[in-house]
Amino acid sequence: MKQFPNRVVLDETHTPKSWYNMFADMPFEEGEDAFMLHPGTMQPAKPEDLYPVFAEELCRQEFTRERHIEIPKEVRDYYLSYRPSPMYRAYALEKLLDTPAHIYFKYEGQNTSGSHKLNSAIAQAYYNKKQGVKRLTTETGAGQWGTALSMACAHFGLELEVFMVKISAQQKPYRKAIIETFGADITLSPSNTTNAGRGVLENDPDNPGSLGTAISEAVERAVTSENTRYTLGSVLNQVVIHQSVIGLEAKEQLGMYDVYPDIIIGCAGGGSNFAGLMSAFMGDRLTGKAKPYFIAVEPAACPSMTRGRYAYDFCDTARVTPLAKMYTLGCGFMPSTIHAGGLRYHGMSPTLSKLYHDGFIDEARGAFQSEIFKAATIFTRAEGILPAPESAHAISAAIDEANKCKETGVAKNILFGLSGHGNFDLGAYMQYMEGNTHDYAPTDNELEKGFASLIKTNS
Ligand SMILES: *Cc1c(COP(=O)(O)O)cnc(C)c1O
Repeated sequence: MKQFPNRVVLDETHTPKSWYNMFADMPFEEGEDAFMLHPGTMQPAKPEDLYPVFAEELCRQEFTRERHIEIPKEVRDYYLSYRPSPMYRAYALEKLLDTPAHIYFKYEGQNTSGSHKLNSAIAQAYYNKKQGVKRLTTETGAGQWGTALSMACAHFGLELEVFMVKISAQQKPYRKAIIETFGADITLSPSNTTNAGRGVLENDPDNPGSLGTAISEAVERAVTSENTRYTLGSVLNQVVIHQSVIGLEAKEQLGMYDVYPDIIIGCAGGGSNFAGLMSAFMGDRLTGKAKPYFIAVEPAACPSMTRGRYAYDFCDTARVTPLAKMYTLGCGFMPSTIHAGGLRYHGMSPTLSKLYHDGFIDEARGAFQSEIFKAATIFTRAEGILPAPESAHAISAAIDEANKCKETGVAKNILFGLSGHGNFDLGAYMQYMEGNTHDYAPTDNELEKGFASLIKTNS
């Protein structure tokens, strides 16, 4: 068998021509497919209900059971400027850990936005442009989505307003600068330019902001402005579909060397990079062809899968969005200001949530900040790539699994998603090196407050 190289980079003929939709192979019970409820009527939402918010094709993708969705030529052409993304074998890390495990990682950080988010940003910008929309709105936490969408809007000539979580803008001023360099307007959230923002500021003038509030503001702006639509960089099934390009490439890259992963690990904020990485392998599992073990890793500070409820909940704090069936801490949950900003969201992708609920995702783990920065430091010294704090959650679990292999002497193939680089996160790395990283997990009482914000539905 051919020796796996340090890094597999395929040429552009290997970039997938269609996305894969896991919905096509997921088992649904009768009536269970109502992933979204209309916020006004609390009845199952239809694609048309979302037209004021999202481009029509994206509304269609939100609900479709189609297995393969063709990647439009304009989107694929753009993908070719940075895809296929490389697949690495972490030989140096394996050696350092002295493990018999084979560790692979798919790296999504090699584009200017620095993460996987560009895969969906370019698709969402394209469908909006095609429909004649002039201006997009969105929110950004850690700044990766805002950067990705600003790149996509610059490419297609769309205007963009980004509601950036205030605390993130303070922690990451360079993220704000790069978004503005790509020509987007930034509004710090909570802002006094929307009803949703003013509502939060009235109760709490020093509110540091959250993704949920920023989403409310961006949705409000889109539905109250001319020829404007909203975009979301995670959670939604349309995003999960676009991110499947990661897993399709990964399966091909490993397959060229007859490698199939035993364990697949991803960090989960809204769930999109992990859903994307797992997609092709989960397809095998759903259709009985293989049974890899899936592990989702989330911050202990925002534990939607490990400690949340599986319920219908709003996607934002102002309760203007449709309700999604997902693992959630309640839309009223106020997360602590830990650094993995991209993972500070009260809910989890409905797709990932259902896969977890139905036992197809085997395990969810919560990780503390000190653990993930420790893992990130080990990884960066071995492999020379500075991971995003979000991605470091996956690294931490991959190292734990590799250490288990050492104890048991069983050599497993471990694949994890390195969703992005941490070059804009050095403030957080500095705090870690200075010993100022805080390990925090909400108490049961704090969680109860969030759960109290869940509405009662009879479904
Ligand atoms: C946004 C982000 C995440 C979390 O979002 P998911 O939808 O869970 O993927 C993880 N890693 C990076 C680098 C991100 O930018």
